[in-house]
Amino acid sequence: MPDWLQGRHALITGGGTGIGAACATHLHAAGAKVSLLGRRMEPLQQVAGRVEGTAIQCDVADRAQIDRAFDEARAANGSIEMLIVNAGIAESAPFHKMTRESWDRIMAVNLTGAFDCAQAAIGDLLKSEHGRIVFIASVASLRGVPYAAHYAASKHGLLGLSRSLASEYAKTKLTVNAVCPGYVDTPMTDQSVARVSQFTGRGEEFARDAITNMNASGRLVEPDGIGTMVMTLCLPQSGDISGAAITIDGATSA
Ligand code: NDP
Repeated sequence: MPDWLQGRHALITGGGTGIGAACATHLHAAGAKVSLLGRRMEPLQQVAGRVEGTAIQCDVADRAQIDRAFDEARAANGSIEMLIVNAGIAESAPFHKMTRESWDRIMAVNLTGAFDCAQAAIGDLLKSEHGRIVFIASVASLRGVPYAAHYAASKHGLLGLSRSLASEYAKTKLTVNAVCPGYVDTPMTDQSVARVSQFTGRGEEFARDAITNMNASGRLVEPDGIGTMVMTLCLPQSGDISGAAITIDGATSA
């Protein structure tokens, strides 16, 4: 049973950077074969090189690309037994200036993309002895975020999707969970720092401190801890953990 992950196929969206790359590292270390999806091939190939994985170009906002990429992943690594829905984007704007285009972009990747990925893999996952879906949600799934109403709405929706699938498949071997991080030390947070710095006209150091202090711990979350949790959720021993919203946020939502 502890060796169950050996040779099993984990597909990770957004696997070339940040949290997705950390998930790849930990799942590979546990013996899994990993397929890494994203739009830019260069970071995907770098991570794939480290984890003996398969890099596949895919925009998760496009269902046809998802179907093609998942077929490519199956051809390389077999039936999908673990799906890590991690690809996401963030933008910020005061609500009265938020554009419909920005709202649509965020929803297409963070929510509709997650729906499409889960649906594209569900047949495989239900055939597995220990099928797993892990959605990388956010503390923004649990509370509102000023200047990011679209992002928070997409992440609330993602948690609703996760809990609904967990309930729907409760009597099967498939588990479905959401991991909800606070601010994590990744490129997405670097971009938030740049935006806050621009809005406020204060320096990058001010902006990084302000964002870091949004976590109650006063530290950014390490991607490694999220990778460890995702790998743990994929173990057969985690079969009774389903429908959970697991916060990894240094007590921010406590
Ligand atoms: P990154 O920006 O490093 O990761 C986002 C990943 O998603 C990138 O690898 C990117 O690759 C991929 N991606 C974005 N859009 C698409 C798309 N249309 N199709 C396919 N892949 C896409 O930041 P994180 O690692 O922090 O983010 C990972 C997840 O964690 C996101 O869902 C984010 O919302 C969530 N999260 C992050 C937090 C943080 O503080 N950083 C906090 C809470 C949750 P590419 O651009 O090449 O497509």
